[in-house]
Parts: sequence; C-alpha cells; structure tokens
Amino acid sequence: MMLPVPTTVHEAWEVERARGQRAVDALDRRLDGQHTPRLPQWACGTCSQDWPCAPAQVRLAETYGRDRIGLAMYMGAVYAAAVNDLPVTMSGETWARFVSWVR
Ligand SMILES: [Zn+2]
Repeated sequence: MMLPVPTTVHEAWEVERARGQRAVDALDRRLDGQHTPRLPQWACGTCSQDWPCAPAQVRLAETYGRDRIGLAMYMGAVYAAAVNDLPVTMSGETWARFVSWVR
C-alpha cells in the first residue's frame, strides 16, 4: 500500500511526528525495558542520565549491529519526537545527543 504523499508543510510535519511516535513506541521493546527514556524530560528511567545514556547506546548499537545507517535513521526519528519536548538550542547539541553518537 502506498502512503499518501504530504502536500503541505503541515501534512509533512504530521507524517514526521507519527514516524517519531512509532520510533518512541518501539523503544521499550528494543531496550528490553531497561534504560528507556522518561518523557517528556528524556532522562533515563534506570540511571537518570540524559537519554540516550551509555547503556542505552550500547544496547541500541548491539540491536542494529553493522547497520549503522538503520540505527542513525531510527535515532533521527526518535530525535524528531524528542525535539518537541526539549528546550530549543542553536548549537545542535540535541542532534549530537540523539544522532551523532551513531558511528
Ligand atoms: Zn540509563
């Protein structure tokens, strides 16, 4: 089935928001319920560090194995959800926190 192509900025934003929500919904399963984010603070529910904490990064990296592009795309979707909750920064630190650690 083909998804409808967004024709307005608002529709495109809604598509991105839904993609981010699906990514967030999958986190509990991908992390086996450990080191999952507490929202809307995006703090780890297990160790209270900024999420993704080091154990969450390790677990996500293990889940994706060599598929670093897949992991980066997934974390980009999570970032799209998180950016609505977190304070605005001009430095790109939120992007770095959520996506740049994937290498
Ligand atoms: Zn943690």
